[in-house]
Amino acid sequence: MGQLVAQVEAGSAMVPPTGSPADQTTVRRSNLSLVLRYLSTRGPASRAAIAAETGLNKTTVSSLISELQARGLVTETGLQQAGAVGRPGRAISLDGATVGALGLEINVDYIATYGLDLTGRTLIDRRVGFDAMGSDVDRSLRQLSQVMGAALTDLDSAGLRVMGITVAVPGLVNVETGTVLYAPNLGWRNVPVAQRLADTAPTVPIPVSVDNDANLAALAEFTVGVAAGTPDLVYLTGEVGVGGGVISGGRLLRGGDGFAGEVGHLPVDPNGDRCGCGRTGCWETKVGLAALVRMAAPDHAYGRSDSGPVRVPEERLAEIERRQAAGDRRVEQALREIARWLGVGGAILVNLLNPRVIVLGGYFARFRGQLIADAQAELDRLVVAGPDARCLFVASELDFRAAAHGAAHVAVERVLTDPTMVAMLASEPSQPSWRRR
Ligand SMILES: [Zn+2]
Repeated sequence: MGQLVAQVEAGSAMVPPTGSPADQTTVRRSNLSLVLRYLSTRGPASRAAIAAETGLNKTTVSSLISELQARGLVTETGLQQAGAVGRPGRAISLDGATVGALGLEINVDYIATYGLDLTGRTLIDRRVGFDAMGSDVDRSLRQLSQVMGAALTDLDSAGLRVMGITVAVPGLVNVETGTVLYAPNLGWRNVPVAQRLADTAPTVPIPVSVDNDANLAALAEFTVGVAAGTPDLVYLTGEVGVGGGVISGGRLLRGGDGFAGEVGHLPVDPNGDRCGCGRTGCWETKVGLAALVRMAAPDHAYGRSDSGPVRVPEERLAEIERRQAAGDRRVEQALREIARWLGVGGAILVNLLNPRVIVLGGYFARFRGQLIADAQAELDRLVVAGPDARCLFVASELDFRAAAHGAAHVAVERVLTDPTMVAMLASEPSQPSWRRR
């Protein structure tokens, strides 16, 4: 598993504690994080190797490993081969069996769930159709809470203590308070999502955080996606709304108020259609999933009361592919139009942010074969730096699960940053679980 946001760099091990108890606690926590993160990034290692590579002394490392074992975060896995550093010793590795995290995403037409253990192993990966656009906030949150409860029960049955829940929402989020300030395609304004979900399970002391779906998907791409590790990367959600998650210089770009990346509302056509945000000619009215359906299969357009039961996006896409296979020319024309507008908006992003890669998520990835070449040609034509700005459109492999996957990673990341949030197994076994509430 990679690092989402490295809080403590390897090599910056702190000096042994000499100051106040508060300082010592902080230093201890940082060092626990340093060791856990080292094992997360590099895999199993002996105590001697950990000491050599982190700069901590061996006695400290042994003590830190004992504490991490007591918290159920690491385990001894056998003898490590004699390597370049020190004598062979027992290898320590992350313990995937006890600690997990949950990512959720609510979007226009589905709720996604992704469960991970500490080692990055996927335990839950599911999506259910839900008409969030046609539901009020209360109904949506009730449904989200139900999905969350079912997932927590499953993780509990698998023996995992869930240490964090992150919810992805397509909108502007105050991540400090877990409040969605505005989600135009859900019709939400000032919804305290973290608080409302916590209230539905007041006896479950699991921290809930909320973030923008594109930000979380960008973190997933940066960590495990097709362009993982690319320090300058933009992820585009291919949903009804089009959001952007920007990784710049290896870090998520949030901006002054946390609203960076609202690329779907770049005004690209003053004579265009009305957007979900109330403005006219936003980029997502040109390239969003609703635009594709409107052009390629107007009888299935979003917002039509006669368009049938709630579908996850794949069902609409499958319908469009059926029509394409049957020779419906509207599909090809729609995709060509969308590819051109992807290039136009992509060029704005390249002029502004100079990413090396624009990762196309959601439905864009599904139609990669028809979209990428035309979009790339248009982008190359429009970017002011020309071929000197080497930016490629690539299709995500994470499908519609990117945001929920990223959300779970962020929750795991919190444990790596502060291992003391996980209670000791021996002395505090009564960490209340979802089922025992
Ligand atoms: Zn808009």
